[in-house]
Parts: sequence; structure tokens; C-alpha cells
Amino acid sequence: MKVTAEPVSRLIDELNKLPTIGPKTASRLAFYILRGSKDDAEALAQAIIDVKEKIVYCSECFNLTEQDPCPVCSSKDRDRQVLCVVEEPLDVVALEKTHEYNGLYHVLHGHIDPINGIMADDLRIRELVNRVKLGDVNEVILAMNPNVEGRATANYINRLLVPLGATISTLATGLPVGGDLEYADEITLSNALKGRRLI
Ligand SMILES: [Zn+2]
Repeated sequence: MKVTAEPVSRLIDELNKLPTIGPKTASRLAFYILRGSKDDAEALAQAIIDVKEKIVYCSECFNLTEQDPCPVCSSKDRDRQVLCVVEEPLDVVALEKTHEYNGLYHVLHGHIDPINGIMADDLRIRELVNRVKLGDVNEVILAMNPNVEGRATANYINRLLVPLGATISTLATGLPVGGDLEYADEITLSNALKGRRLI
């Protein structure tokens, strides 16, 4: 006998697909939604639909945006000669919070991770090389996460960019090793940016 109604188990299954949400948390969230008001449930469903319908990739930096080019790429106040390469859109949010950086960004959407089948071609690396080739970029800051995959990705990109003549730097040490950039506090990240060193 099935004790959970089909719509409920379907919601649990969908929530269970999200990262870090195990079956227990998925059940708890599903019952929380069930107990809540219809308005709250509709607002949640609509927010999910809106991000899928209204958010696009910026055609220049590949950050997520409502308008293309994104506000950073279309701003006249940003230094277009400096490019900061990050793994994820959340890293842009973290770096913007430091108020220490005034250049442009390039979002790779991941890192090279052959064990999990993620190769250079799965990331926005080709687009980065083209940007450096065609634009008037003279410094590229490789702001990858301070872990093995981040370092491997930075080394790979460095090899591609060196022949193009741009100055290439990485964030200073001091970031928590193995952690993600997005979780670094503003002062640590700000210092890492200020103390960046040439490769
Ligand atoms: Zn952009």
C-alpha cells in the first residue's frame, strides 16, 4: 500500500535532485511546503520559473543576467583592460562585495575535472581566449578556487594565454585551502586581490 500520495512523492523526488538535499531533507521541505500557504507555494514555483525564463548568459562575460550585456560589461565605469576569471557566478558576487575590483569578469561555469568528465571544452575557456585575443585586455587575473581542480584549471588557462602577451596573475595566498572563493570573507578576498602575484 502506498502511504504517500503521488503528488507529494513527486515533489520529494524533485527536491531530492537538488545538490546537498538528501531524501530526509527533501521530505522535510516537501511537508513544509504542504503545510504552508498556497500563496507561498505559488511564489516559490513562480520564482523557479522566472529564473529559467528571464535569466540568460551575458554574451561577453557569461555571467547570469537579465539583460545582455550584463550591467558590469555595459558599465562605462569599469576598467576594460583587466579581466578576472572565475569559476562560478557566485564568485563574481563575492568579488563585487569587496569593492576592491573595478575590471571586467569572465565566468567559466566550473573547473576542469577529468574524473567527473568535465574537460576544458565544457567550460567557457575558448571564449576567454578569444576575448583576450580580440579585446584590449592587458591583465588577466585567474581567481580560481584554491583547490586541486582550481589550480589545474588556472595552469591550463595560463598556458593558453601566455602566448597572447597579456599579464597573468593569480590571487595571493591566504584564501582557505580547499575552500570555495564564494565562502571567503570580504577582507580575506580583498587582500588576496590586492596582493595578487604574477604567474
Ligand atoms: Zn557580462
